[in-house]
Amino acid sequence: MGLLSAGTPLSWDDTKQVANHIRSHGITQFLHIWDRLKDKNGDELLWGDEIEYMVVALDNETKNAKLSLRQTEILIKLRSIVDNLSSETKDAIALPTFHPEYGRYMLESTPGSPFTGSITDLLAVEKNMRYSLELTAEARRTLARKHLKPNEIPLTLTSFPRLGSPGQFTEPYYNPCDAVSSHSLFLPEQITNPHVRFPTLTANIRRRRESKVAINLPIFFDEETPRPFIDPTIPWDRSIYSEDPEAKNGAALPDHIYMDAMGFGMGCCCLQLTYQACNVNDARRLYDGLIPIGPIMLALTAGSPIWRGYLSDVDCRWNVVAGSVDDRTEEERGLKPLEHDRFRIPKSRYDSVDLYISEDWRNRPEYNDQPIVIDHCIYSRLRQHGLDDLLSKHIAHLFIRDPLVVFSEIINQNDKESNDHFENIQSTNWQTLRFKPPPPKSPIGWRVEFRSMEVQMTDYENAAYAVFITLLSRAILSFNLNFYMPISKTDLEVEVDENMSRAQGRGASQSEKFYFRKEVCPGGNTPKSSGSSSPVDGSRPKDRKMRNCFPPPEMPQNGMPKGPVEEEYEEMTINEIMNGKGESYPGLLGLIWAYIDTLDVSPQELSKIHSYLDLIRRRANGSLLTPATWIRNFVRAHPAYAHDSVVTQEMNYDLIVAIDEIERGVRSVPDLLPEDYTGGEVDGGSISP
Ligand code: ADP
Ligand code: MG
Ligand code: MG
Ligand code: MG
Ligand code: MG
Ligand code: MG
Repeated sequence: MGLLSAGTPLSWDDTKQVANHIRSHGITQFLHIWDRLKDKNGDELLWGDEIEYMVVALDNETKNAKLSLRQTEILIKLRSIVDNLSSETKDAIALPTFHPEYGRYMLESTPGSPFTGSITDLLAVEKNMRYSLELTAEARRTLARKHLKPNEIPLTLTSFPRLGSPGQFTEPYYNPCDAVSSHSLFLPEQITNPHVRFPTLTANIRRRRESKVAINLPIFFDEETPRPFIDPTIPWDRSIYSEDPEAKNGAALPDHIYMDAMGFGMGCCCLQLTYQACNVNDARRLYDGLIPIGPIMLALTAGSPIWRGYLSDVDCRWNVVAGSVDDRTEEERGLKPLEHDRFRIPKSRYDSVDLYISEDWRNRPEYNDQPIVIDHCIYSRLRQHGLDDLLSKHIAHLFIRDPLVVFSEIINQNDKESNDHFENIQSTNWQTLRFKPPPPKSPIGWRVEFRSMEVQMTDYENAAYAVFITLLSRAILSFNLNFYMPISKTDLEVEVDENMSRAQGRGASQSEKFYFRKEVCPGGNTPKSSGSSSPVDGSRPKDRKMRNCFPPPEMPQNGMPKGPVEEEYEEMTINEIMNGKGESYPGLLGLIWAYIDTLDVSPQELSKIHSYLDLIRRRANGSLLTPATWIRNFVRAHPAYAHDSVVTQEMNYDLIVAIDEIERGVRSVPDLLPEDYTGGEVDGGSISP
C-alpha cells in the first residue's frame, strides 16, 4: 500500500467531483518528474523485497487458529524496537521496516534500505528476511516472532483458509452485521485496517460500482461434495444492508465459492520485488521483459487453494484480488450501453499488464494487440509535451480510473514538489508489473516492480524466488533477452492473458501448458553455461557485482526479421520454460546459469545460489510440490476430512500448526522442500552445507 496520508476523506459524491482535478494535476506532477529526470542515467542496481505476513493466534484448547487483529499495537511495538536498535547502532545497518497493510491482521516488511548489486547482498536476502544480522540489528521474521504474544505467529501464507467462514476466525470475535464499509455477509468491519484510507477505499469501491463486489471461485468437487453445490453457509436471507439480496439474486453462483468484499482479496499476502534501473529506457526494457514471466511465476508459486472454508478448483489469489477491488460500473463492464460513464473497460484496476512500453525495436506493434482503453485528452497532452506514443498510452491507460480516496486537506498541492495525485491513480492500478517513476525530491531512480508471485511459507523459498527474479532481471538486460509475444489477441487465442488464467487452475504448474517464446536470445546465439562458474573463461570480464547498465541491442543491418508473430511462440510446460527445451531454448534457469558464469562468485556463494535455483528447478519439474498442492494434499489426507470440500476449524488449526512447524524446520516435508532444509530457527543458513 502506498503512503498513508492522514486527513479527512471526501464523500464518494465529492470525490467524483474532484476526479478530473486529481487526474489533471497528477499528470502535471508526472510531467515535472519527467522533465527533470527523463535523462537521469547511471543509477546503480538497487533492489528490495516486500513480504506480507498474517499474524495468527492459536487457541490450543478449542483447536482454533484465528487472525489476530492486533496490527496497530504490533506495529507500534516493532517500530519502537527498531528505533531503539537504530539509535544504539552506530554503523549504518539495514534495519528492517514494518508497514501496515489492508488486513488488520497483516504486516508488510521490507529491508530497511535496499540491497545493492553485490553478490553478498543478493545472498543476504534470506538472512534479512529472517535471521539476526551481525551486531544488534535483527531481521524481520525473527523480530516479529519475538515481539508477538506467545500464542501468535507471523505466517507467510497467501490466503487464510477460513477467512469469512462460519464461527470465529478473528481474535477477538466480531460479527459481520457491523460491516459498514463493505456490507459483507461474511467479513466484519474490524477485519480492515482502521486507518481511514482503508474503510474509505472499501466503501467507495462499492459505491462506485453500485453493488458489492462479487467473486465466484469454482468449488473443488471431491467424492462427497454435493452436486449441485449450493453453499449452505451463505446467509441467503439476511436483510441488514440494501445489498444483502444480491447473493440470492444471482451474484452467488451455484458450484462456486462466493465472496463479496475487498478483504477477501486485499487480505491476501504476496511477495513483491522492486528493481532500480540505470535509466528510464532500461526500466522500460526490464518491465517488458518481465511481463511474460508474470503468469509463469504465478503458477509456480501457487499457494492459495482454500477460500472461505472450502477447497476450490484454483490454486492462486489473482482473480480473487482482481474481483475484490473491481469498481467498474455495469456500463463499464459492458452489461449496459454507455450512458453516464466514459469507457467500456475490459479489466479490473487489479489485473495483468495491458501494454508493452519499451521503444526497443524488437517490441513489434503486433505484441500490443489488445485494443487498449485510454483517456484521449491525457494522451494528447502527454504527446504534446514530447512523450513518445507507448509511454503516453501507458499513463493515459492508468488514468482512465477515478481516484478512490481523496483527502480534503491535500486537494491543492504544489505540483512541482508533490506526486500525491499522480500516486493516487498509479498506486490504485494494481497490475502484474508496476513502472515506478522516481519520487520528487529523492535520489531514487526509475524502478520496476514484479508483483505476481504468491508468498511462500518459508523465508528460504521466498529468498529463492527473490534471487531467481533478481538474476533473471540481470540476464534479461545483460543478454538482451527477448520474451515478447502478444499480450492478448481478441480473435481466436490469447497469450500473456491466457497464461494468467491458465496459471491459476488447480495444479497448473504441472498440468497446463503456457504460451512462451521459442527463441529468446538475439540472433539465436544462446548463451550457454560452462557448467562451472568459477574459472574465468577469459572472454567476459568478471564482476563481483551484478551490473545495472547494459547496452540496448542494436537493430541488425538487414533490419529485423518480420515473420508472422504466431510462429515466434508455442505452448510449453512450466518444466520446459524453466529447465529448457531442445537445443535452442536453454530455459530461464539455463539463461541464469549462463549469466552467473559472467560473475566472479566464490564456491560458497555458488553453492547457496545452487540451492535456491535447485528448489525452483524441482518445483518446475514436479519433483517438489507447489505450496498449493501441498496444502490441498494435507487437507485431503486429514483424518477429519469428509471428502466434501469443507475445511473445518480443526483441519485449519492443524494446517496452520503444520505450516508453522515447517517454517521453523521442526517438521520434515520432503515433498515440498529439499531434504536438507533445516528451517528458520538455526542461524547461518537454512540449508546445511
Ligand atoms: P510499494 O509498497 O509502493 O511497492 P515499498 O516501499 O513498500 O513500495 O517497497 C519497495 C521496495 O523497494 C522495498 O523493498 C525497498 O527496499 C526497495 N527500494 C527502496 N529504494 C529503492 C530503490 N532506489 N531502488 C530499488 N528498490 C528500492
Ligand atoms: Mg503490500
Ligand atoms: Mg509496500
Ligand atoms: Mg505497496
Ligand atoms: Mg509493492
Ligand atoms: Mg493469439
